[in-house]
This record gives sequence, C-alpha cells and structure tokens, in this order.
Amino acid sequence: MIRTGKARVHALRSLALLLFLSAAGTAALGDGETAPARDAKQPVDDAYTAKIKKYTTQPFFTSPLVDYLPASKNVPTPEAVLGDVAGAPGILPYAEDVYKYMRLLEKASPRVKVFSIGKTEEGREMIAVAVSSPENLKNLEENRARLTKLADPRAIKLDDEEADRIVAQAVPVYYITGTIHSPETGAPTALMELAYRLAVDESPYIREIRDGMITLITPVVEVDGRDRMVDIYRWHLSHPKDFYPPLIYWGKYVAHDNNRDAMGVTLKLTENVLKTYVGWKAQVLHDLHESVPYLYDNTAGDGPFNAWVDPILTDEWEMIGWRNVSDMTKFGMPGVFTHGVFDTWSPGYLMFIAAMHNGISRLYETFGNGGADTLPRTLDPEEYARTWYRQNPPLPKVLWSQRDNNNYEQTGLLTSLHYFNENKHLFLKNFYLKAKRSVTKPAAEGPAAYVLPADDPRASSQAELLRVLQKQAVEISRSTAAFTVALPVKKSAKPKKDAKDTKEKDTPPVPTTREFPAGSYIVRMDQPYSRIADALLDYQYWSPDDPQKTPYDDTGWTFGELFGVQVTRVTDPKVLDVAMERVKEVRAPAGVSGDGTIYAINNNAEPTLATLRYKLHDASIEAAEEPFESGGKKFSRGSFILRNVTRAQLNDAISDLGLQATSVSAMPSVKTHPVRAARVAFVHTWLSTQAEGWWRIALDNLGIPYDYISTQIVAKTSDLNAKYDVILFPPVGFFSSPTAIINGLPSAWGNPLPWKNTPETPNLVGKNDSTDDMRPGLGWEGVANLQNFVAKGGVLLTATDTSRFALSIGLADGVSVGNAQKMKIVGSVVGTRLVDAASPIAYGYDEKLSAYCDNGPIFSLSSISGARGFRRLGGEMHTRPTGRGTADDPDFTIGRPGAEVPEEPKSEIWENPLLTDEQLHNNFRVIPPANRARVIFRYADSKELLISGLVEGGDEIAQHAAVVDVPTGNGHVVLFSINPVYRGETRGTYSLVLNTILNFDSLNSGRKLAEK
Ligand SMILES: [Zn+2]
Repeated sequence: MIRTGKARVHALRSLALLLFLSAAGTAALGDGETAPARDAKQPVDDAYTAKIKKYTTQPFFTSPLVDYLPASKNVPTPEAVLGDVAGAPGILPYAEDVYKYMRLLEKASPRVKVFSIGKTEEGREMIAVAVSSPENLKNLEENRARLTKLADPRAIKLDDEEADRIVAQAVPVYYITGTIHSPETGAPTALMELAYRLAVDESPYIREIRDGMITLITPVVEVDGRDRMVDIYRWHLSHPKDFYPPLIYWGKYVAHDNNRDAMGVTLKLTENVLKTYVGWKAQVLHDLHESVPYLYDNTAGDGPFNAWVDPILTDEWEMIGWRNVSDMTKFGMPGVFTHGVFDTWSPGYLMFIAAMHNGISRLYETFGNGGADTLPRTLDPEEYARTWYRQNPPLPKVLWSQRDNNNYEQTGLLTSLHYFNENKHLFLKNFYLKAKRSVTKPAAEGPAAYVLPADDPRASSQAELLRVLQKQAVEISRSTAAFTVALPVKKSAKPKKDAKDTKEKDTPPVPTTREFPAGSYIVRMDQPYSRIADALLDYQYWSPDDPQKTPYDDTGWTFGELFGVQVTRVTDPKVLDVAMERVKEVRAPAGVSGDGTIYAINNNAEPTLATLRYKLHDASIEAAEEPFESGGKKFSRGSFILRNVTRAQLNDAISDLGLQATSVSAMPSVKTHPVRAARVAFVHTWLSTQAEGWWRIALDNLGIPYDYISTQIVAKTSDLNAKYDVILFPPVGFFSSPTAIINGLPSAWGNPLPWKNTPETPNLVGKNDSTDDMRPGLGWEGVANLQNFVAKGGVLLTATDTSRFALSIGLADGVSVGNAQKMKIVGSVVGTRLVDAASPIAYGYDEKLSAYCDNGPIFSLSSISGARGFRRLGGEMHTRPTGRGTADDPDFTIGRPGAEVPEEPKSEIWENPLLTDEQLHNNFRVIPPANRARVIFRYADSKELLISGLVEGGDEIAQHAAVVDVPTGNGHVVLFSINPVYRGETRGTYSLVLNTILNFDSLNSGRKLAEK
C-alpha cells in the first residue's frame, strides 16, 4: 500500500496522541515494588525541568524518571559546567569538562567518589565515578572483600551457605561505560545527569538504588576520540553551512574496532576498563552506544551465542532486557526492544569482559544524531517495522534531539538499576554460581588445563600470549618438573572406503600420552576466570548450515594458532596435580651464552628479531641463507649472525626480547646477506584509518620506526627511493576501492575538509597525521611515484584490499584476482602452507602456518603478462573422444599407426602455470622466469583450510597463493591475501611483514627459476 505524504503525517499525529495518552497511565507493579515517581516533598529545579521539557521533541520521548530534575541546595546540576541542561542542543562537553563536573559532584556530595583508572595512548585520563550511599562508599574495601569471595569461591571453599551469608551482606556493583564510539555522542551528558540524580534524588525509587548498590560510571571510554569529536562538532557549529570532516581518527590507533579489543586487550581503554571491572568485582558491565532507534538492548542476539558463556548468563540477559522493554513500554516510550540482529558469538566486544568474567554483559544502542543538533530523522522500513521482538517499534519519521537520547539512556539505565537492585540477591548468587562453575570446570565439561610447553621455540610470542591472559586476570602456573598427561582417546575415524594406498590405512597409532618438560606453562581451568582462557585458547566452529547467515564479527580467533605458539588442550585431570607454582611475571628466557666476537640467534619468526635489528644500530647483522650448525647447535635458515657488538651490548638489547644468542667461534660457512635497518614509510589514506591502525600499534609496540605518510604525501614525493627502502601500504578497510584510493573523497563540489589543529580544533591531530584538505587521494601522480619507487628498487608491501588495488592498477604483473562465487570466510583462522622456504619472507616459519583471513582476494598466477590466471580445469576435461576400446585405451585412426600425445605441462594451483611450446612461440608477453611471481605461502588444501571459524566454499581459495613476492623492475611488490597484522591477535604472522622489511634488498635470495 502506498500512502500519500499527508495521510502519513496524519497517521503519525494520531499515533503521537495515543502514545501520549497511554504515557499518562500508571505502571502496574509487582508485590513490594516501588513505583517510579518523584518524591513530592523534594523541591524540583524548575528552570532545569522546563528546559528538559523544551528540548524533548515529543511528550512520549521521556519518562516519569527523567522529566524533572530534583533540586539540591549544595549539589550543582550539570548546568554548572555545561551552561545548559544535559542533552541541550549545541552542547557537547570535552571529557575534561565531564570530569570537572563529576569532581564537583564529589566535592559537594558524600554520595559520589571519583577514581582515576588510567591513561589513554595520548595521555588523557580515564575515570570511574562511584555513586552510592555515604555508608556504602565508606565501606568500599569491606564490600570489595565480600565480593571477592563471591568472585573467587575458592576463598570460601565453594561453600554455598557461606556464599548465601555473603550475598545477604554484599552491595553489588553495576558498571556503566559511555561513548566508546566517538561519533555516538550522547552518553557523557546523560551520565552526568544520571550521577546527579543518583546522588540527589530522594524519591524512594532512586533511594533504593543508591542505598542498595554501587553505580560505577566511566562517562567517556574513548577519551582521545571524544575530544576529537567535540573539536569537529565545534568546527561544525562555527561553519554551519559547510560540510565538516568525518572523524577519520578516533583513538590514536583504531576507530570502531575499539569495541573489538576485549580478546587481545591491545588498547589502553580496554585494559583500563577490564582492570576496573575485575578490580571492583562488578556484576554488570553495561556499555552505551547510539546507532539504532530508539533503545535497542543489543545484548542478546539471535544466535549463535558464544559457546563459552554460562547459560545462567544467557538467562540474565533476557531477564533484564525484557524487563527493560516492559518498563519503558509502560512509560509509553516507543521503540524499546531487545533481541534483533546481533549474534553474540565473538567475545571481542568491551561488554563481553563481563560475560567472560562471570558477570553480566549489557549493551544499549540508543538513537543519536552524531552531535548535539536536533534533526528530522527518517527511518528505513526495516527499522520501523513491527516484529515479534519489537511490538512497539520506532516511528517512521521524527524530530530527534540529544535530549531525547539522554532521556532514553537514563530511563533505560534507571529501570535496569532498580530492577537489578530489587533482585540483587539473585544476581549476586548467580555471580557466585558462575564463578563456582568456572572453578569446577575441569570436572564438569572440561578441559582440565591448557599447557604451553617450555620448549616452544617461539618463547617471546608464547610469553606475549601468556601476558594477554594475565591482562585478562587469568592465573598462570609453571610446572617445576617434567610431567606426562594422558591424551583424549580419539574415536577412530570411519575407515576410508577409497583409501588410495596402504599408507593411509597403516597410519601409526595415535600417541596416548604426552610429556611436557619442566617449566611448561599450565593454565588451570579450576580458576574463577577459566572461561576467558578457554574461549581464547579453544577452537571455534561456525557451521555453514547455521541459520545465522550474517555473522556480526569474526567467527574464529584461536589464540595459540594466531600467535604461532603451541597450546595443548588437556582433559586429563591429573595435570592439576602436577607440581607447579604461580607465575607473577612471564618472562621468556633471554640472554647470551658464551663470549666472543661473533654471535648467532636462531630464527623462529619471532617478531622481536626485527626489534633487535633497530635497537642495535651499529652492529653488523647478517642472515644465513641456509640452515647451519655451530658448536653442536642447529640454526635455521634466516638465523642472525651478529658482529661488531659486545656481549654486554647484546645482552642488554635482547634481555627483554625473549631471544637467545650464542657465541660462535668462527663465521659459519654458510651463504649470508646483510640485514639492514630498512627505512620504512607507512602509508595511510584519508578514507579510513582503522585497519592500518592495528598495523601501527604492532610496529610501535615492537619499536620498528617508520614515517607515517598519507597517500597525498606519496603523490607529492617524486623520489620516494631517496627516503625509503620499504613502503607499507596496509589494508584500508572501509571505502577501499581502487578508484576511491586514487580519487579520494569527492572534491568537484563542497568545501575543503581540514584535519589539523587550530584554536577551534586543538585535539584533532593528536599524535597522528594532518592535512589542509582530506579530500584528495593518491592521484595519478601518486600511482606514478609508487611505480617509480618499485622500478628503482623499492619494496612495496600490500595486504587484502591494497593488494587488490596494486594489482588493479598494474603495479605487479603475473598475478590476478578472481571473484569469489560462493566463498564465505568471515574473520576466520585458516591454514596456509609454506611453498618457498628459501625466500627471506619465510625465514623462521614452519611448513604449516595459521593465518587470519576475511574473504581475502583469490590470487592466481600467470606466466604471461596481462593474462588472468585461472584455475586449471583438470584432467577430466581431456578425456578421450568417443571411439574404440575402453576409457583407458587410446583411440585409433584407420590406416595409420597411433601418434604419441605430448604430455600437457602440469602445475599446481599456486604455481606459475608452465608454458607450452605453442605459448612460447614469439610471445613477447611471456614473463621471464626471474620476473615471475614467487609464491611464499599458499592456502592449504580445501579439507585443511578451516582452523577456526566459518569457511564455506573454501575450495575457491584453497591452494591459491596467500603471500606472493612479485619482482617488478628492480624492486618488489609483496602481496598478501591474508591480513597478517590484525587486532593484536595475529602475532604469528607479523614476521611475514617484518622479514620483508629486514631483507628488503635481498628478497631474491634462494630463488630457483623456472627453465623457460
Ligand atoms: Zn557503537
């Protein structure tokens, strides 16, 4: 049915009236429940209340909880700092102003305490504000001690009755976090006012919350991004007719992905919130977002749920969520719902810190305008449609204000807090039970522990992985003696009907035990936070048949695989009886053995090898091009041979790097090449910076220096070789088409979009990059400069979308990208196989390597310039013609003897196809062998492609090249189909990038050329 505009407006009005009328009704209450109504005896701040009303665009966009502000003689309202009420149009406070207000509250009220919880990457403070009764705030430590016993039931010997006694006395902690996503701007003012209400309001409804629990608030999670966002908004206010720049940087490193860091804990904001959550022993972590009308409790999706969360938790999500919907619906507020499009599989979201630490994760999407302007907003049909989980949907078109947003956020939070407090004994007991079930995990579902062996050759990566677990508050132990565990008995696979040879039938018996050396790390599963360790270290399987067809985020993440370290899941409970001690600080063994003038360090693809090269400026370092032995020790290909460095210098440099150097008496008789500290340019676009942000943080943490330059600078630098040896062009992410990279943002119309610090925008640049106008892209000059750079000997490294870009503009020849038909690899861990062990890019790697892949480009190789590589169709296309004999017999021609059929040259999927004599004849397009692409790693065979996550239609990319080095001119273009540097989770593939940097001028080492 098509409605005319007029009819639609009319319908809207009638609906508005109806809703308004229903809002006046009183909510039905359960036995003993307190009504949400203000205290008639407490005076109201009339001026503030009048403004709330003024800025609320519809009478039904508010509730009896927030449509007034109680007055206080000594406690300042948010107006004291904002100059207006919370959510007022045109007002967006900096984090500093929000903190200033919270500290004013603290000064004026014994019911508020402010805690500093750490700093951001750019040095800004993060805070947590506790609001509760003065008595609760006085007894914080006693209460924490009680909560600690519930959080770690080992302290009370898993005694349920003792737990009940503690539950009866304990005050729960509900932790609310605001504006992690910087363009989602409403939370800070909503939380300022919420803190005021909780501190001042004497209505029984609020008093019960205040006396019964501690509300903990971090009003700004992404502080660096908030200040940039406020800058932009101010710029917009003073240039109202101009377009304003998009928020290209949020935090120093990443944007929206700051809410995908709860596994790797790479960002400060994650670390600080995690520490606060765990330190306070909070029961809930409730994170506020603004991208869905009007309040979507985006906690529990429609599956598949994360397989490691306790079913007690999934029930709690529904209880609180549906109660929220019910309460707000009774207030007459439209568009409040739960359930929906989320899947709840990945544990990477900030709120999931609670889900993985025995608490309750929660997330609101409210509606926001990306600033404090009041705007008409028109929804898509799917947004305002009534569905089974959204019986009272949002309206198709409304005028929306930041105050509306603040009303919804506060009403949702207050009803949640109240409901939580009314049922706090239940939730505290659940908190205990979830912790208890984590402790009893070995005997329940298992496993008993994960073991990381002491003799893992990648000691520094192993230590990194263990440090991630420690950041997650997981206890790490270390065995004091060697031990043996029984391995699970694998059910024998069905006998293969078509086993081709006896080899397959006579595979050696599967070992039934495994021995681990003394010093092996044991991650016990009988500890309160076993859940997060299990979730990170286990494997994930997302069925291609899952009814959920659009995974919300990554589907696989197995940390042992992605870190390139050995992790064994042990189900044998005897592992818990092994002699072991708790490890405070994980330190990989490091140091120098022997004294001399020449030292060797084995290469196991440890990223810290690159750190060492840049640390030891003056040392001469060479890489061995073949494996060698010295003093009875075996060194793999690519091992470092160091000279011109003293033992003390070397020891000093490697002690923190988890590397071990050995002095060798003489220079090993093996071919070597120098490992020089390449001059690196790191290129970003002005389209999107997040995907490259993860690369930046990895390089920064490893101490690899680089110049951070935009595509605009590439366009302006005609002699890139004069400054750089290697140009990294990491993935762009959003808006990454080749045309977008070249053309940039539209500049034929509109105004320049500056990204630079001015008095009006003092925070924009931070420690990142600046430009007078974000719009110009790489341009054709930039393309030419990159082409020249490679032609003159430079190394250009690209990954995923920038690989597509490089190939589409002809920066490398002999490689093409095929289109996926049915392939779905959604943020999964996949298997790859080493193809060319002699390439320096492969130094330190084994035959098998796990990598992160998200529908990576499907590379095909060709030995003919400009030709698209394609999958050979295989033997079945060359079956014999219809004729005499059987299928295996040769055909014959009457009257002449049979002719010998020349053999078709055969090559593997990942190889350069061999050329026939026909193809070689006078073919100036044939790429000479030395110029052909060199495949370093390929994707595993179809059957072995999936390690963790979802792989559907994997045969389209199976066996295809995953990492390719294409000699171009005098230089190289190194193309990645996998993303080797991602979210701090893929340390195992970092060295593919670092090896390219370290061996930039010797990438052809060990290369074997085709004959023709
Ligand atoms: Zn968000």
